[in-house]
Amino acid sequence: MMLRRFVPIVALGFFGLGCAGLDSESWLISEKQEKELGAEFHAQLLAEEMPELSGHKEVKDYVRKIGNRIVPHTHRKDLGYTFTVVDTDEINAFAVLGGYVYVTKGLLKAATSGAEVASVIGHELAHINARHGVKRLESYMVISGLTSLLGDFKYKDIVSGALGTTETLVFSKDQENEADDIGADYTLAAGYNAWGLVDFFEFLHTLEPSDGGLEFLSQIGELFSTHPPTVDRISKISTKLTGEGIARDSSAYTWDEAEFNAIKAMLP
Ligand SMILES: [Zn+2]
Repeated sequence: MMLRRFVPIVALGFFGLGCAGLDSESWLISEKQEKELGAEFHAQLLAEEMPELSGHKEVKDYVRKIGNRIVPHTHRKDLGYTFTVVDTDEINAFAVLGGYVYVTKGLLKAATSGAEVASVIGHELAHINARHGVKRLESYMVISGLTSLLGDFKYKDIVSGALGTTETLVFSKDQENEADDIGADYTLAAGYNAWGLVDFFEFLHTLEPSDGGLEFLSQIGELFSTHPPTVDRISKISTKLTGEGIARDSSAYTWDEAEFNAIKAMLP
């Protein structure tokens, strides 16, 4: 069984550090616990829901390279991050608290530039840095009466319980907008053209059913299944980039097309 919209749990986020508008405060889960819970999520997801792409070292190295180029520009650059390519044709990406970022083989096949992939990874890193997943998990634990498990270090139980109830862990509209905004900053700081996020959302928009049916939502996770609607997100990101004077053809930011296309050609 492929866990579809498991996105919600995972994303994370902001550490504050005097950043305007960043409310990363959490009250139950410490950063040490976040790391340990994240490792448990990662282990259970790889084992049960989302197998990592086997072989294809060049592909995995490429995704890692993009991630590691963005990390130094995040608010929690020393958290420690793991980038994983998931072996599914589903178009998806997500983040798990504690520094775990996932992109699917399907997403790499659907993208047309390295800048698109970098923009998606920037978005996921923003969720982690803003502790969005931590906040969601805290809410889940309180609502489910599981907070005592934290003190007892029963992380396996917490994680398996959370993975069984992903619907309760969906990110809010505000969290998605925040991840788009902050993620674009990260992407640009790393030298990638953040218009890639607009391009990728526009592609996803072509997949959305005109009647707003739910079938689309069951196929596409995190980035795409949620409110705010894709068109709204495209508009907000475009306005932001235009307002900051970032041009599509700016020589200051790379689209990274040549290397990306070589990597894409290697995908099974
Ligand atoms: Zn998101």
